[in-house]
Amino acid sequence: MQAPTSTGDGKRRARRAVPLRAVNGVSDVKIGILAVQGGFAAHAARLAELGAETVEVRTVKDLEGCDGLILPGGESTTQLQFLQEEGLFDAVKKFAVDGGAIFGTCAGAILLAKEVKNPAQVSLGLLDMIVLRNAYGRQMASDVFFGSSNLADVPMEMVFIRAPVIESVGPGVEVLAEYGGKRVLVQKANVMAATFHPELTQDSSVHTHFLKMVGASPRRSASVVG
Ligand code: GLN
Repeated sequence: MQAPTSTGDGKRRARRAVPLRAVNGVSDVKIGILAVQGGFAAHAARLAELGAETVEVRTVKDLEGCDGLILPGGESTTQLQFLQEEGLFDAVKKFAVDGGAIFGTCAGAILLAKEVKNPAQVSLGLLDMIVLRNAYGRQMASDVFFGSSNLADVPMEMVFIRAPVIESVGPGVEVLAEYGGKRVLVQKANVMAATFHPELTQDSSVHTHFLKMVGASPRRSASVVG
């Protein structure tokens, strides 16, 4: 940001408005969103509000040049099959190993886990956690709750849709939010997973946090603002 300048009438004003992107701590980021099925459009809308460019990812080529990647909710079995058929399974793994930031919501969290149960399913193994699919049972199959998080001072609105439960996490996995005594938002280094759907509420703190992760990743270190 440039220094305020004198207007000559004794008042000081900013020479130009701070761009929205700079407010979020990142400039010129391109976020890929896996767009096979499920909730990719709501993630794109939220990221656009926050000033990030988004691209729908359906091929390995689409992923090239992305600084971050979102794996949205939906049906993890269908998404897994698509990733394997398109060669994206290995490409996404390489993207993470190269330092690209990844955020998985619900089905996306299932894809990121080290181990999946109920039933067992192949996964990317990028986040050291064990998840149980469809684990809340009928009472809480799909509903809205407020949980605690360390991303905001106020309770965080959380939409759960046939959500998985994070049964356990390995060393170094940070718990960013909880609901009902269970971890619902976790992160280790450049990989984050939510069992709920932050893209379906008015609260943008989770996506803002993700953009900060993108800015901090080795791929983007040159473009962090402030
Ligand atoms: N129940 C779905 C699965 O197991 C996930 C649901 C969701 O993404 N909202 O893949």
